[in-house]
Amino acid sequence: MAYSYEAPVSQSLFDRASVVTPGGVNSPVRAFRAVGGTPRFMVSGTGPYLTDADGREYVDLVCSWGPMILGHSHPEVIAAVQEAVSRGTSFGTPGEGEVALAEEIVARIEPVEQVRLVSSGTEATMSAIRLARGFTGRAKVVKFAGCYHGHVDALLAAAGSGLATFGLPDTPGVTGATAGDTVVLPYNDLDAVRAAFAAHPGEIACVITEASPGNMGVVPPAEGFNAGLKELCAADGALYISDEVMTGFRTSKAGWYGIDGVRPDLMTFGKVMGGGFPAAAFGGRADVMAHLAPAGPVYQAGTLSGNPVATAAGLAQLRLLDDAAYAKIDAVSAELRSLVGDAFAKEGVAHTVSSASNMFSVFFTDEPVRNYDDAKKQEAFRFTAFFHSMLEQGVYLPPSAFESWFVSTAHDERAVERIAAALPAAARAASEATA
Ligand code: PLP
Repeated sequence: MAYSYEAPVSQSLFDRASVVTPGGVNSPVRAFRAVGGTPRFMVSGTGPYLTDADGREYVDLVCSWGPMILGHSHPEVIAAVQEAVSRGTSFGTPGEGEVALAEEIVARIEPVEQVRLVSSGTEATMSAIRLARGFTGRAKVVKFAGCYHGHVDALLAAAGSGLATFGLPDTPGVTGATAGDTVVLPYNDLDAVRAAFAAHPGEIACVITEASPGNMGVVPPAEGFNAGLKELCAADGALYISDEVMTGFRTSKAGWYGIDGVRPDLMTFGKVMGGGFPAAAFGGRADVMAHLAPAGPVYQAGTLSGNPVATAAGLAQLRLLDDAAYAKIDAVSAELRSLVGDAFAKEGVAHTVSSASNMFSVFFTDEPVRNYDDAKKQEAFRFTAFFHSMLEQGVYLPPSAFESWFVSTAHDERAVERIAAALPAAARAASEATA
């Protein structure tokens, strides 16, 4: 596919990057491999806008893959960061900021009685799995195809996100022994979970699920699915782990738990709670968390865990996320979903705008999408044409048909108007695309 617009500065940066970094990027989906073309190197962000190295401005619908829920460079978050930086950047000792952030999380999310701070969502899920295994004395982990929980070895089986984008069923470097304890099941299929517990009684340490998946595109849990998981886990003595790295503090004040009220044994968080810095967490039942070192025998640690700058950013961001902020994000999301749906309908493009609270994505199919197999049946080639038309018109979408779109409190009328103006041509490009 030829692109009628150019990004010479980004191209030259990408050329330099490709010499010193594998694939030119530090996280695969940034490389635009699924959609082709030159990844944009961003130099600054303000509110709902990003500016690239060629000086072009975009309305940002990626929001750093979720964290920037107040938009870029929010003055109060920046001020909190500056204040924290002025006192030093890392001490390797406990500090008040991490206590305050932990208290904020515990106050917002009732099933979290205790929490441990880490630096990435991957670390959070990896540690939660280790803790579940240590607590139960069992080895097996159940996960769902299309759910991504970071690049944890044991969880890189049928993961969505970057792996969905690249169509890799698995990855070299993960040993059979590691993956052998992972049971991968179709999402939204409680019978499959029942059968797994029947096949491995007393062997399953935990079931881990995205609270509402956003890594195969947005595929919400069917009515009763999460509650059913919790019940099956409880009946067998396994732990129910809800991965809220993406949904946490985004889909409501208390994340997806605030919507479905199903009480997990352990939960994982990241993205929004770091305010754009590397901060993440796992937490839950106090009797389970008590097994974690130094209180208990399950080892877990981190040089930069609870970093004072990251915790200051996260705390400032969370404190600004009140009911009014969520109402605003929900309203912008609803408006965009309706604009996007109308644009495709007008061009006769088969599509489904799938949403879970304010997270949403488009599947290029009008068949229901309940799991990863359904998601893969979409006409993803239409997304490529749609993506590039939007990019050319100054709207930055996730460069993959298998990712959630994210909005922020900063997405105001002007930003929405710019998206609305770009949609008709982009929907036409999608309708004219060929496989
Ligand atoms: N869990 C979920 C649901 C995610 O969406 C992600 C990242 O996208 C992760 C875990 C991993 O988080 P990180 O990229 O911070 O390691």
